[in-house]
Amino acid sequence: MGNTLKEKIYEMKDWLVEIRRTIHRHPELGFEEVETSTLISEWLQKFGLEVKRGMAKTGVVGLLKGKNPGRTVAIRADMDALPMDEINQVPYASQIKGKMHACGHDAHVTILLGVARFFSSVPDHVKGNIKWVFQPAEEGGGGGRIMVEEGVLENPKVDAIFGAHVFPFLSVGKVGIYEREGLAAADRFAIKIIGKGGHAASPHVSKDPILAAGHLITQIHSIVSRNINPLESGVITIGKVSGGTASNIIPDEVELMGTVRSLNPSVREELKSRIEQVTQGVARSFSVHCRFDFENGYPVLINDSEMSRLVGLACSKGIGKENVEVLKPSMGGEDFAYYLEKVPGSFFRLGCRNEGKGIVHPYHSSLFDIDEEVLPFGVEMFIRIIDQYLGLEIAG
Ligand SMILES: [Zn+2]
Ligand SMILES: [Zn+2]
Repeated sequence: MGNTLKEKIYEMKDWLVEIRRTIHRHPELGFEEVETSTLISEWLQKFGLEVKRGMAKTGVVGLLKGKNPGRTVAIRADMDALPMDEINQVPYASQIKGKMHACGHDAHVTILLGVARFFSSVPDHVKGNIKWVFQPAEEGGGGGRIMVEEGVLENPKVDAIFGAHVFPFLSVGKVGIYEREGLAAADRFAIKIIGKGGHAASPHVSKDPILAAGHLITQIHSIVSRNINPLESGVITIGKVSGGTASNIIPDEVELMGTVRSLNPSVREELKSRIEQVTQGVARSFSVHCRFDFENGYPVLINDSEMSRLVGLACSKGIGKENVEVLKPSMGGEDFAYYLEKVPGSFFRLGCRNEGKGIVHPYHSSLFDIDEEVLPFGVEMFIRIIDQYLGLEIAG
């Protein structure tokens, strides 16, 4: 199909922009993506796909069964917006106060719909199956985990899965890949230090939780530098400290809250157990009690290196090797990690930055926007990846 592939995709550009803007105007938060999932289902049905709704509450799954037998490949988009106001003065700005597509998930949905439109127009060329996964609640709700638990990777069994995120740090027209680790495990902890309050002038008859907190904060920061192999990655940030009411009172309690990031499951375990040990040690040395709560967030996102190579190769065929960059992992989190725990696949980035148009703001900013050229571009990249994986030879 060669050049005609690009032509065919660019013919749908206005339609892609229209869909993205419709979704952008009506952002919905995690597990509330009712209008978005209705819009998706209606298009998938029009394209003649098998459609299943209601997975993980608002998830939608589409299936295209090829004429000939082959492997099953899945592609995934997240649908949720963020609880924040949009500042952008654009005709397609959010119409819902306190909600905004500031992470580009509107683009992810649109791109996958474009891929569905393309393959439904060439059903005779498809061998094997293509599955479209639209999941709710990536922004903290773990919609991906629920989709996996509810069997999205079965019937038919998915052999490989691919997902992408728009990337404001890369110019539109470029793809970023992670060879293996892409995003970090993102866990949370809370420590309550329980001492004994009293008069600030008589510390000897109280148990000061503030002094204990000071030592604890310092000692926790020795964990990454002294317990973790310098060639591994880890971050511990204490983002909240609260306790005390006045300068002349020793309080009863102090609370610390923090986040722990890592790229390796054994480092993840080590960080957790060392924070707990250090906490108990400080508690003993200051005669206070400590309550330690640790909450696992999304796991490390680990790409299959073979599948990442495939993404790099497939995309290079369309945009040249020079436009495919190998990225260093990020210490952010992403629930696509749950799919990759079950099946091989790769998560990659689609550049959406355009300095000429002033599209430079990071995601989760109230000024975030994308260069809409990323819509047809993303469609092309996914088509090339599916083409390469299923061996269809239609992308040229
Ligand atoms: Zn986000
Ligand atoms: Zn996102």
